[in-house]
Amino acid sequence: MNVRTRIAPSPTGDPHVGTAYIALFNLCFAKQHGGKFVLRIEDTDQVRSTEQSEQMIYDSLRWLGLDWDEGPDVGGDFGPYRQSERGDIYQTHAQQLIDNGHAFKCYRTAAELDELRASIKASGENRALKPSDLLLSEAEQQQREADGAPFVVRMQVPTEGKCTVSDMLRGEIELDWSTVDAQILLKSDGMPTYHLANVVDDHLMEITHVLRGEEWINSAPKHQLLYEYFGWDMPALCHLPLLRNPDKSKLSKRKNPTSILYYQRMGYLPEAVVNYLGRMGWSMPDEREKFTLEEMLEAFDVQRVSLGGPIFDLDKLSWLNGLWIRESLTAEQLADKLIEWGLNRETLLSVIPHVQQRMDTLSDFIPKTAFLGSGLLDINEQNFAALKLDTAEQLKILQFALWRLEALSDWQRDALFEELKGLADALDLKVKDFLAPLFIAVSGSTASFSVMDAMALLGSDMTRARLRNGIDVLGGVSKKQMKAMEKAYKGLNSAN
Ligand code: GLU
Repeated sequence: MNVRTRIAPSPTGDPHVGTAYIALFNLCFAKQHGGKFVLRIEDTDQVRSTEQSEQMIYDSLRWLGLDWDEGPDVGGDFGPYRQSERGDIYQTHAQQLIDNGHAFKCYRTAAELDELRASIKASGENRALKPSDLLLSEAEQQQREADGAPFVVRMQVPTEGKCTVSDMLRGEIELDWSTVDAQILLKSDGMPTYHLANVVDDHLMEITHVLRGEEWINSAPKHQLLYEYFGWDMPALCHLPLLRNPDKSKLSKRKNPTSILYYQRMGYLPEAVVNYLGRMGWSMPDEREKFTLEEMLEAFDVQRVSLGGPIFDLDKLSWLNGLWIRESLTAEQLADKLIEWGLNRETLLSVIPHVQQRMDTLSDFIPKTAFLGSGLLDINEQNFAALKLDTAEQLKILQFALWRLEALSDWQRDALFEELKGLADALDLKVKDFLAPLFIAVSGSTASFSVMDAMALLGSDMTRARLRNGIDVLGGVSKKQMKAMEKAYKGLNSAN
């Protein structure tokens, strides 16, 4: 068999460490079998997908050395590899399912769907929406069709019984059909959902093994049924354990930096990040902790993946990175790494406009900009003590700013300014007072150049990590305080 694996990231937001983790295991599995590793871009969510995010996926995976054999940017025999360019293929396949009675057009409105769900719930049943719930009378269906009302295409699904799916690591998994809804396959804008596009593409791209995150297990019955409807063989499925925060919750950007760009900016070596990702649920036969990608490719065996949720722990990663820096680099190589990382002309040119007017001697440059090249800042509550607002207010500002900035996709100075100015106004605070704790958390001092510029230069993940650090330094927020803050924050947004 020609083994073919793939990753299928959606280009929404920053490139996620989870994507790199799944990519690494797919790459290893394919190479171990002399096969091919494909990169497909799943950009059917046209509102959230951006070109910039797609580019960041390429750049960050390449930085890590996780190269693909086929993909939108490198081509291949099974293209196009970007789902937004495959619209006709999904339309044809959806039509085929409709013609064979495996899918149907559903004209139900959002309000009707809410009502249907509420009535299932009220009857005490704990089940998904089924095709029979969605049926309209013949006359009504024809009327809506004649009116050109919007519709989606949904798949037929059984009402009850068990569905068994095989997983390479977990064996047979039993899932209950009653919890599987009449999945939408084509949305009212004609775009496919993940489920249809993913199944059609995996088949047409001759993917033999799907190694993906365990959050997709519940989709497996629908996918298996779609393969049956089409009369295709299903690739082997392997659901890899999700990366977790040290508190065991799913790795999320609210608690931990999740963007590969953060790790790059923080000065982790790509070799160490890949090494660490390789330790997530997997181990070398001799259990050694430090190994190269080549060594992992050579020793890889998917059956050595253990299912307990692997913890993505920053201290452990730093420890491993330290080994790489101290043991594996000559002074020459370390110099090259530093230049590549940030001690270069391009970085200088991005920073100079902000400090040139504050410099008398060249030696002013490093002290005035050191905070940009640092990781988390070495600050303590004394740094915040001289500010006008009290600690509770400072904490509130840092937390609210963090929430605002988490939602910001356009990480540019002007957008940052607008968000933060909006927040200061909503809190009825003078901009200067409002910005002071942000200055300390992000730049270490209020004497630095504009905190908005500093945030733009630092990037979203590093900025947010520093805001979180500022909150910790000020004593953190208890569960109870957090509840009150969430309520106040919601009130603020709805009042706007
Ligand atoms: N587009 C999905 C994602 O973003 C792909 C999941 C899969 O591998 O099937 O994770």
